[in-house]
Amino acid sequence: MRTDCDVVVVGAGLVGLATAYRLLQLRPDLALTVVDKENTVAAHQSGHNSGVLHAGIYYQPGSLKARLCVAGKAQVEQYAAERGIPVEHCGKLIVAASETELPRLHTLYERGVANGVVGVREIGPEELRDYEPHAIGVRAVHVPPTGIIDFAAVARSLAEDVAAAGGRLCLGQRLVGVGPGGDARVLELASGERLSTRLMVSCAGLQADRVAALTASASPGSGNPDGKTAARAAIVPFRGDYYTLTRSARHLVRGLIYPVPDPALPFLGVHLTKRHDGAVWAGPNAVLALAREGYRRRDVTPADLLDTVRFSGFRRLARRYWRVGAQEMWRDVVKGAFLRDLQRYVPQLRRQDLVFGPSGVRAQAVDGDGSLVDDFRLVEAPGVLHVLNAPSPAATASLAIGGVLAERAVATLAD
Ligand SMILES: Cc1cc2nc3c(=O)[nH]c(=O)nc-3n(C[C@H](O)[C@H](O)[C@H](O)COP(=O)(O)OP(=O)(O)OC[C@H]3O[C@@H](n4cnc5c(N)ncnc54)[C@H](O)[C@@H]3O)c2cc1C
Repeated sequence: MRTDCDVVVVGAGLVGLATAYRLLQLRPDLALTVVDKENTVAAHQSGHNSGVLHAGIYYQPGSLKARLCVAGKAQVEQYAAERGIPVEHCGKLIVAASETELPRLHTLYERGVANGVVGVREIGPEELRDYEPHAIGVRAVHVPPTGIIDFAAVARSLAEDVAAAGGRLCLGQRLVGVGPGGDARVLELASGERLSTRLMVSCAGLQADRVAALTASASPGSGNPDGKTAARAAIVPFRGDYYTLTRSARHLVRGLIYPVPDPALPFLGVHLTKRHDGAVWAGPNAVLALAREGYRRRDVTPADLLDTVRFSGFRRLARRYWRVGAQEMWRDVVKGAFLRDLQRYVPQLRRQDLVFGPSGVRAQAVDGDGSLVDDFRLVEAPGVLHVLNAPSPAATASLAIGGVLAERAVATLAD
């Protein structure tokens, strides 16, 4: 069977659904299909995250992350208000546990101000306790607008809106091939269905590099969607495990308590996060995942692992950060090490307060030279728009990323 489309969005995570939603707002006349290999929306990163609406404090001013996080947060808040999805602005504290962290803490404060985060302030240890009575630290940055939300609920709602606007949701259908078809591209699904489309928008998260590789054969020269570096860029998956706090320990955390992150790494460090349902999660750590879509420590997908270790960028990264990687692995298997990190901020936490919780896998793009791609990476190739790197805060930024992609898609279709 062959279906004709104007646009096919690959991926029914938040970025793909937000793109489809924004596209149909701009061009309700488009024949649009969203394809996902899973039977439900938000089956991967969009349904396995901390649920934090980031205010925009961490990101380099002027970067896509900074701009789209701030804009996207406002857009998600507005969307949630319209659809009755609760948002709680519980605020965040980024806590310096030692004097040595103060310069980095101050840099975060300056970034927050530069990014226009309202109400961000540096506070001392006494005021810190006004917000979080059980937390300690030498100084903190308080970020009042940070919120929490159920991102899976946002994704489900976007999917309903896309369908209501005439979009077709094609779930349980893996994209397995992309071929040329005159002015169009022909996308082949595992079921055998073929979608002929003028434009494909790839929002494939943990599989972004593989979907990009599928487009390589469709038109000569387009397999290298990101110029020289992306020819060798790949997704390296990092699993993040959470513990949950027992009910009796939840009172130790009112909102969100974060450490001062290592600026060389795109991860925020294990934090204490209040959830939309009242639970409190501790984590996530960041260890190399042995399966891109495996959520248990024992999950291993040999093809994923082989792809990672064969990738020269990963080997360079591993040589550079082996010490950090070893510490993360240690903390992953030794509960006491995880607990000690949390006790730097909340000393009353005890081992029995922590219960194994869920996990998520982050899609982090790494360039061939071993550098972690810091910013969002959105790349145009003939007939395709690729999202090649959309790690945190892409859930917060999803509607803004979707807006950018939708505008580019409309311009491409008009050419
Ligand atoms: C542990 C963790 C904590 C995080 N915490 C936060 C947070 O608090 N706040 C925040 O803003 N962000 C957070 N993030 C980041 C955020 O969750 C992601 O950036 C965001 O969800 C990315 O959305 P996406 O649509 O790009 O990817 P995904 O949600 O992973 O969706 C990609 C989809 O593409 C589909 N797909 C892939 N290949 C194919 C194919 N060949 N055929 C068909 N379908 C395909 C997949 O099945 C998947 O559904 C966190 C991420 C993790 C992992």
